[in-house]
Amino acid sequence: MDVVELALDVRILGSELLLSSPNLRALDAIGVADDVVAAGVPISSVQFHTADGTEIANVPTPSVAREGLPPAVGITRHAFYGQLYDAAVAAGAKIAHETTVQEISDADNGVEVRLTDGRVSLYDLVVGADGWASTVRKLRFPKANLPQYAGQCVWRGRVPRNGERPLKEGSLRGYAGANHSAGLITVNDKHSYIFCLVSQPKPDRLDESTFMDTFKGLLEEFGGEAGWARDNLEEGTISLAALHHHVMDKPWHDGRVILIGDAAHTTTPHIGYGAGLAVEDAVVLGEMLGSSEDLAATLDEFVARRYERCKLVVDNSTQISRWQQGLDGEPAQAELTNQTWTALAEPM
Ligand SMILES: Cc1cc2nc3c(=O)[nH]c(=O)nc-3n(C[C@H](O)[C@H](O)[C@H](O)COP(=O)(O)OP(=O)(O)OC[C@H]3O[C@@H](n4cnc5c(N)ncnc54)[C@H](O)[C@@H]3O)c2cc1C
Repeated sequence: MDVVELALDVRILGSELLLSSPNLRALDAIGVADDVVAAGVPISSVQFHTADGTEIANVPTPSVAREGLPPAVGITRHAFYGQLYDAAVAAGAKIAHETTVQEISDADNGVEVRLTDGRVSLYDLVVGADGWASTVRKLRFPKANLPQYAGQCVWRGRVPRNGERPLKEGSLRGYAGANHSAGLITVNDKHSYIFCLVSQPKPDRLDESTFMDTFKGLLEEFGGEAGWARDNLEEGTISLAALHHHVMDKPWHDGRVILIGDAAHTTTPHIGYGAGLAVEDAVVLGEMLGSSEDLAATLDEFVARRYERCKLVVDNSTQISRWQQGLDGEPAQAELTNQTWTALAEPM
C-alpha cells in the first residue's frame, strides 16, 4: 500500500484531541488501542463549570470499549498520529511525504494515479483520506457539495502541567462564559491544552504576532483552572482555525476512488468525534475490503453503513454550535450530547 502525505512529518502543535470510547473500540479492532492509551492521559469524566470556575456538573464519560481500556484519552495529535504512523509502517504501508496526487484516471484493470514526485502507478483502489479540503475530492468529485464555515472559530493553546498550580488529570473541563465557551484537557504528563470557541459571522485573518494578546483577551472572563491556564499559555503554541461542517451527498465513491474521514464529512468539534469517525471509517473499510469479492458492491455497502452515523455527529455538533451562536431557541447541549453518545455506543 502506498500512502502520499502532503506534510513534511506528523508534527502538529497546539491542536490536541479527546479520543472517546467508541474511537478506542475502533482502534482496538486494529490492535493499536493499548499503545495509543499509553501515549495519552486517561479521561473518565466531563466537568462543566461556570465562567468563574465553579463546578456545576461532573458527567462520567461513557465506556463501550473492552475492559482495561479507559473511557476516553486526552492525547496530543503528534503522539496519536505517531502511534498510527508506526502501526501503518509496520503493516507494510510505504509513506511518501511532501507528495500529493496530481491526476487520477480509470484504466482497464485499475485506477492510474500520477503523483507530484513523478511516479505513475496502477492501483486497485484510491482512498482519499486527505481532510476537509481534500484534493482527491476536488479531482474526482468536482461537483460535490463542499464544507461550509460553521459560524465559529476556535482558539487553542498549550499550557504546562507542572506550573505554579498543577492542573487536574482525568477530565475534560468545560467552561460556559457569558461571551464564549472554553475547555481544558490534559494531554500528557507535561501539558494541558485550552481552547475557546468564538462565534463570528466571518473568520478573522489576524497576524500571528497578535495571537497571544487576543487569546488572553478572549479568555478574560474565565476564572478557576481556565483562568490559570490563560495566565500560563506557552508562547508560540497559539493557533486559530475557522470551523467547517459538511456531509458529502452520497455516493462517496466513484469507480475505484472513495473518500473517507473529513474529506467525506467534516464536523465541528462540539461532540469531539471527528477523528473518531475518521478512524471508524478506515477500520470499517479495511474490514469490508478484507472479505470483499465485489469491489463496487462493497463500496456501496460501506457508504450505506457509514452515512447516517457520520451525519448524526455532524448534524448534532452543528446544532450545538448554532445554540452557542444564539440560534435555534433554547439550548439543550447536555441532552443532545448524551443522545449522540448513546447512538455512538451502537456498533460502528
Ligand atoms: C479545533 C478542533 C478540535 C477537534 N477535536 C477533536 C477531538 O477532540 N476528538 C475528535 O475525535 N475529533 C476532533 N476534531 C476533528 C478531527 O480533527 C478531524 O475530524 C480528524 O482529524 C479528521 O481526520 P482525517 O484523517 O479525515 O483528516 P485530517 O486529520 O485533516 O488528515 C488529513 C491528512 O491528509 C494530509 N493531506 C491533506 N491534503 C493532502 C494532499 N493533497 N495530498 C496528500 N496529503 C494531504 C494532511 O496533511 C493530513 O495529514 C477536532 C477538530 C477541530 C477543528
